[in-house]
Amino acid sequence: MGAMLDPAGALVLFSGGQDSTVCLAWALARYGRVETVGFDYGQRHAVELQARVAVRAAIAGRFADWAPRLGEDHLLEMRGFGSVAASALTADRAIEMTASGLPSTFVPGRNLAFLVYAAALADRRGLKVLVGGMCETDFSGYPDCRRDTLDVQLSALNLGMAQDFTLETPLMWLTKADTWSLAKGLGGEALVGLIVEDSHTCYLGDREPRHAWGHGCGTCPACELRARGWDGWIAAGRPELAA
Ligand code: ZN
Repeated sequence: MGAMLDPAGALVLFSGGQDSTVCLAWALARYGRVETVGFDYGQRHAVELQARVAVRAAIAGRFADWAPRLGEDHLLEMRGFGSVAASALTADRAIEMTASGLPSTFVPGRNLAFLVYAAALADRRGLKVLVGGMCETDFSGYPDCRRDTLDVQLSALNLGMAQDFTLETPLMWLTKADTWSLAKGLGGEALVGLIVEDSHTCYLGDREPRHAWGHGCGTCPACELRARGWDGWIAAGRPELAA
């Protein structure tokens, strides 16, 4: 690691969750300059935004190879978008499957809007690579996390901004157990421990209960997914996936 760094700069869509923390580590292992972007769209839980700060600080403090490459953080205000798109993450609605077959946590247009903002920021910052934790494999089938959707949007962004961005999605075909394996491959048990302790996934914003896999209510869909992935990884003997 480190000998073959890509000189292109990368912008990681970073929420402070498990997936985007692994994406940040993946980018730090590859690119000479890495910046992060987060979005404040009126999430119910400020805890998500606090986790971003905690994870970045922990990475900078514990990974000497990565710290010099970890550049600026950008938090973009998107509350106007949050007021348009109501969902269980931005309003007090139950987390459930809806008649359309999508979970109530799906926010129509959210990831599309994030990418427009991220690309505009990358253009301004001279960064050529966007990195996101979108995943088709074992989540709820969010239609805007599919690689097909992303490829079409990337084409539109490059045409519309006269750019040549690439969009990397290192978790796209991984299971949640694989994501723990990738974390270990990137940063060993130190990174696994950092993700357990500092990243945040719980939809209810609960940081109190501490499980083997981290903090969270333990019963919301996000906690269940994270716990299942962890259990699968432990059952497999804590393997590591070469990054
Ligand atoms: Zn939870």
